[in-house]
Amino acid sequence: MSDCIFCKIAEGEIPSNTVYEDDSFRVILDLNPANEGHCLVIPKKHAEDIFELDSQTAAAAFKTAKKIAEAVKKAFGCDGINILQNNGEAAGQSVGHFHIHVIPRYHGDAVVIKSQAVKNMNPEDFVKTRDKIIKSL
Ligand code: AMP
Ligand code: ZN
Repeated sequence: MSDCIFCKIAEGEIPSNTVYEDDSFRVILDLNPANEGHCLVIPKKHAEDIFELDSQTAAAAFKTAKKIAEAVKKAFGCDGINILQNNGEAAGQSVGHFHIHVIPRYHGDAVVIKSQAVKNMNPEDFVKTRDKIIKSL
């Protein structure tokens, strides 16, 4: 994609602080880090989001995220790590090229990544919800 900033970064046309690169991925420091060491795993092949991403690249991307998470934990001695991946504006995606965030976390840090309960579900609701997803697999 000629006008995609992450394609340009992945191909090295736009400079970045690269921490890892292979034939399929470039891993860079996020320009606006949640904490020091916040990395982005970027596939070199353009895919807008998880729906466009092929399964092989999806598997390899998570493997790369694990490798980076281990390095970040070793480098910063963080207490935890969030692996975050946004799809669609509604989910907070701001760059339309699939990427995985690797975010070091510390007890009591100021980072807010929440999956808070906002829906009240009774046991019958759970069964309906479960069956909707199973039917769509
Ligand atoms: P998302 O909101 O999940 O799409 O994440 C996009 C991330 O890309 C944000 O955390 C931005 O700070 C980061 N970002 C945007 N442009 C650049 C850039 N040129 N170099 C490094 N990180 C960037
Ligand atoms: Zn792209």
